[in-house]
Amino acid sequence: MARGTLYTISAPSGAGKTSLVNALLADGDNALCVSISHTTRTMRPGEQNGVNYHFVSREQFQSMRNAGDFLESAEVFGNLYGTSRIWVQEQLDQGMDVILEIDWQGAEQVRKLIKPVKSIFILPPSLPTLQERLTGRGQDDEATISGRMQLAKNEISHYGEADYLVINDQFDSALDDLRAIIRAARLEREQQLRNNGALLQDLLA
Ligand code: 5GP
Repeated sequence: MARGTLYTISAPSGAGKTSLVNALLADGDNALCVSISHTTRTMRPGEQNGVNYHFVSREQFQSMRNAGDFLESAEVFGNLYGTSRIWVQEQLDQGMDVILEIDWQGAEQVRKLIKPVKSIFILPPSLPTLQERLTGRGQDDEATISGRMQLAKNEISHYGEADYLVINDQFDSALDDLRAIIRAARLEREQQLRNNGALLQDLLA
């Protein structure tokens, strides 16, 4: 039986999801890891194959999907994304807590397949702040930004499916919220029974 806990973290683009997850990993918690997805999208400057994503062709992706290699997969903004089933299972079996940074479609698929899974949704503190964050990224024109706002609003419309909502107004406070979710999950009775079974038996001796 899997011992680690599986988390999905979803958010509209601009909510700060990747920065929050990176900061969480920088805590050096050696029982926590993030899955590196496969994608067909082109690499952005500064990205590295095998670090940010496993970048694959559409053909490779389709054949992996046909072979059942993905726990979940979805098309987002015209590109395909998928999570390696075996890698996630291995990590969970070893007692690792695993984070999947995936969109709402992927989170929905995972909730149907794996129990329990804890789904977290990161939200911006307001639409103007989100717009500012999306605008601040580069020199995109208004149509591009308004397109991104529409896509962000579509993602936001799925927050009701998540177990936890984290509002990223102050980065440090949102990071603490994520830490609190993970910490509380590790204290759940079932998890403690798995990790501290011997102690719990001794206490009743
Ligand atoms: P980006 O290409 O900007 O890194 O990510 C675009 C969107 O794809 C984000 O919402 C991200 O969460 C989502 N995404 C990244 N990897 C996966 C994955 O493996 N599965 C699914 N369903 N979505 C993913």
